[in-house]
Amino acid sequence: MKKTLLASLLLAALPTLAAPGDAERIVARATDNTRAYDTLSYLTDNIGARLSGSKSADLAVKWATQQFKQWGIDVRTEPVMVPHWVRGIETGSLVSHNNQKIVLTALGGSVATPAEGITAELIEVNNYDELKALGKEKIKGKIVVYNNPMNLELVRNGRAFEAYSEAVEYRGRGASRAAELGAVASLIRSVASASLRTVHTGAMRYDDKFPKIPAAAMTVEDSLLVHRLLGKGEKVRMHLVLTPKTLPDVQSANVIAEIQGTEKPEEIVLVGGHLDSWDLGTGAIDDGSGVAMVMETMRLIKELGLKPKRTIRGVLFMNEENGLRGGRAYFAAHKGDKHVAAIETDAGAAAPTGFLTSLKGDALSALETKAKVLDRVGAAKFQFTPETGADTSFLVEAGVPGYGFVPDARHYFDYHHTPADTLDKIDPKELAQDTAAVAGLTWVLADE
Ligand SMILES: [Zn+2]
Repeated sequence: MKKTLLASLLLAALPTLAAPGDAERIVARATDNTRAYDTLSYLTDNIGARLSGSKSADLAVKWATQQFKQWGIDVRTEPVMVPHWVRGIETGSLVSHNNQKIVLTALGGSVATPAEGITAELIEVNNYDELKALGKEKIKGKIVVYNNPMNLELVRNGRAFEAYSEAVEYRGRGASRAAELGAVASLIRSVASASLRTVHTGAMRYDDKFPKIPAAAMTVEDSLLVHRLLGKGEKVRMHLVLTPKTLPDVQSANVIAEIQGTEKPEEIVLVGGHLDSWDLGTGAIDDGSGVAMVMETMRLIKELGLKPKRTIRGVLFMNEENGLRGGRAYFAAHKGDKHVAAIETDAGAAAPTGFLTSLKGDALSALETKAKVLDRVGAAKFQFTPETGADTSFLVEAGVPGYGFVPDARHYFDYHHTPADTLDKIDPKELAQDTAAVAGLTWVLADE
C-alpha cells in the first residue's frame, strides 16, 4: 500500500520533474562552455582583419566552410562580387602649429590625395546648416571639419545605436556636402563613445553630382585640439596625405550552413552575422562575435542531435561593412524561399539584454510567451522596431519577421571600427550567454 502511494505521488510529481525541453537544453549547453569564444579566437587571432576583397576575407570564407563541414553540417558558399578598397598611407600634421601630428584614418571608400598630399586651411562646422551658412565663399579651397560628437547621454541610457545613426550622417555624406561648396577634403570627429586617441573608420559614399574629395576621421582628442585652436581665432593649416585605392571588384562569397527541418523543411529560420570586418582591428566585436554565435548555434544543435521542425539556415554574410553586397546577393538569390524568421546578430558581445523585432501587437505578445526560456540569460525582452539588422533588411522589408540581437551597447562604440576591436575586449562568459540567447531564439522559432 505504502509503496503504491509513493509511486502515485512520484507520478503526480513527474510533470515538474520532467526532462528539460530542447530550448532549455540548448541554453544550458551554450552557457556551460567556451566554444563560441574558441571559434572567435581562431577567426580574430589566426585570420585577423577581414576587409572585403582581402586575402584574409577569402581565408575566413574557406575556414568557416571547413568548420561547418568538420562539424557534419551541410554547407555551401554562394558567390558575391565585392568592392576592393585598400588603405594606404594616412598622415596629417598642423603646418601652422609646429607640424603637430594629427591622428587620423581614411574613411572606407575615400579617394586619395595626390601622393605628396595637400595643404589647406581648416574650417569647422557642427552641422550642415552651419556649412550652408558659410557658403561657397568661405568653404572653397578649405578642409571642412565636422565637429559632431556622439550624444553620450543617449549612449548611457542604452540608446547607443540611435546616437550612432545621428552622428554617422557626417561620416556617410559629409564629404560630398562639403565638396558641393568647393572644399578640398573633409574630416570628421571619430564617431566614438569613448577614446584613447583611437580612430574610428567606417563607410562613406560620394554623391556623383559633386567632385570626389578625400575623407578621413580624426580621433576625438585631435578634433578637440583643432577645435580649441580655431576657438582662439587662429588660422589652422593642415598637411594631409591619404593614399587609399579602389581596385576592381573581386569575387567573394556568403557562407550558408543548413540543418534541414523534419516537418516543414520549406520553412526557413535564418540566423546570420557578417564575416567581413574593417581593416584596422581584428573585428572581434564587429562582427566576429556575431559569426561565432551563428556558428556555435549550428554546431550546438547538431551536437545535441536535435532535429528542428523547420529548416535552420546559418548565414555568414560578406561585405556588410562597405557595400552590403552579401545581404543584397542573398536576397536576390533567395527572396523566393519561404523565410519565417530572419535573426541577425551584429551589435557586439556584451551581456545579452534581449532582441529587437519587427513583430508588434499580438504577434509580439505571443513571441514573449514562446521565448520565456531566454529569461535564463536575461534575453527575454523584445522591443518593436521596423529595422532589425543591415544584412537582413531586404528580407524584413519584404515582410519576413525580423529579430535583431541586442547585447548591452553602452561600450560598443568605444571600440567600433577602431584598431582596438580585438579579442581581449570579449568576455567568454558573456559571449556564451549571447550564444545561448541567439541559439535559444533560433530553436524556439524553428521548432515551436
Ligand atoms: Zn557590423
